[in-house]
Amino acid sequence: MYKLLLIYVFLLPSLTEPPTRSLPVLQTDTLPAKSATAMHFDSLGLTNIADVDSTIRVDLMYASPHNFTGRVLYDNLKEGYLHPDAAKALAAAQKELRKRKPGYSLIVYDATRPMSVQQKMWDVVKGTAKNIYVSNPARGGGLHNYGLAVDVSLVDPTGKPLPMGTEVDHLGYAAHINAEDALIQKGVITAQQRANRVLLRTVMKHAGFRTLPTEWWHFNFCSRQVAKQKYKLIK
Ligand SMILES: [Zn+2]
Repeated sequence: MYKLLLIYVFLLPSLTEPPTRSLPVLQTDTLPAKSATAMHFDSLGLTNIADVDSTIRVDLMYASPHNFTGRVLYDNLKEGYLHPDAAKALAAAQKELRKRKPGYSLIVYDATRPMSVQQKMWDVVKGTAKNIYVSNPARGGGLHNYGLAVDVSLVDPTGKPLPMGTEVDHLGYAAHINAEDALIQKGVITAQQRANRVLLRTVMKHAGFRTLPTEWWHFNFCSRQVAKQKYKLIK
């Protein structure tokens, strides 16, 4: 092996011109740099989901324009952060999912959302019919603003999201979870899509999360009352 390496080193300059350009650049630091918002969250004692379970996929929908506002709401954040209590529960949900469906994974579309971003989101829906789907910052925001809510779905072993009947962030009746029988009867969602939602709910509830009637992808770690008593708002 050593001899082969020597031959390679001596042959390399003669095979390629100019030799100085043919040398590979050493990658000393392959880890992506942490965003400024992530470092702010670190300073507040929040937990990066990747640190509790690196197999959980994170693809923040407000870091791109592919969300219901059509705008980028996160200037730099790309990491998913939660309060440590909620992060621990999410790792337990991933563990339960993998026990039931080896190779499958949770995919996180939003987690901790600072109040400054909540305000941007509210400004988009204010005065429209969609305002029922967004927590008003003037009334203290919602559980995302405490790091205690997560928008999450499931991916199969190839990384493809399981069909759930609507896109994540679809604001409307088809995303509601309290009348799925009717949605199936009307042909709005299929029985398989409902089964996928049930699997997601099962593993999330197993880990202690609560559902939200209007959004199949949204899960709260505790009630709003408990959040206000025990936890801090993230600015
Ligand atoms: Zn949500």
